[in-house]
Amino acid sequence: MKVIYCLMLLILTQCTLAQSDAKSKQIEEPKLVPFAKKMLPENVCYIVRDGGTEEPFSGKYVNHHEKGTYLCVACDHELFSSSAKYDSGSGWPSFYDVLNSKDVKQLHDTSFGMDRIEIRCSFCDAHLGHLFNDGPNPTGLRYCVNSASLIFIPNSSNHD
Ligand SMILES: [Zn+2]
Repeated sequence: MKVIYCLMLLILTQCTLAQSDAKSKQIEEPKLVPFAKKMLPENVCYIVRDGGTEEPFSGKYVNHHEKGTYLCVACDHELFSSSAKYDSGSGWPSFYDVLNSKDVKQLHDTSFGMDRIEIRCSFCDAHLGHLFNDGPNPTGLRYCVNSASLIFIPNSSNHD
């Protein structure tokens, strides 16, 4: 059922994108929009600020298996570890746990006639995705996150 919900959301998202595409005749470099303390491309801002959803299987981290840490795209706080990432088959990067539960806040989301739990970065309020209870052990949770909301840092590199 959750996959159907995601597909419904995708269709709605596609309609919105098609409308905005029709307005701009040519595709240019993405415009940068301020969010939190950064300037983010418009398509990223559409997700983190407006609660949008990227197309399934389109994100750069869906089939990404490197070891490392996933940071919030808007404020660089560490949110997820590759050790809790798994292939959910949903089309979005999925984690069964967060690094620190207080760093990801949960909000009741009734948009699109659905009853879901939205997840956001606790530090900058960026929309990350949704939380479902069909994940694997040990938590049984699935943090379904947009790739656009994340930045991956491999274990071997320094990021400060
Ligand atoms: Zn953040």
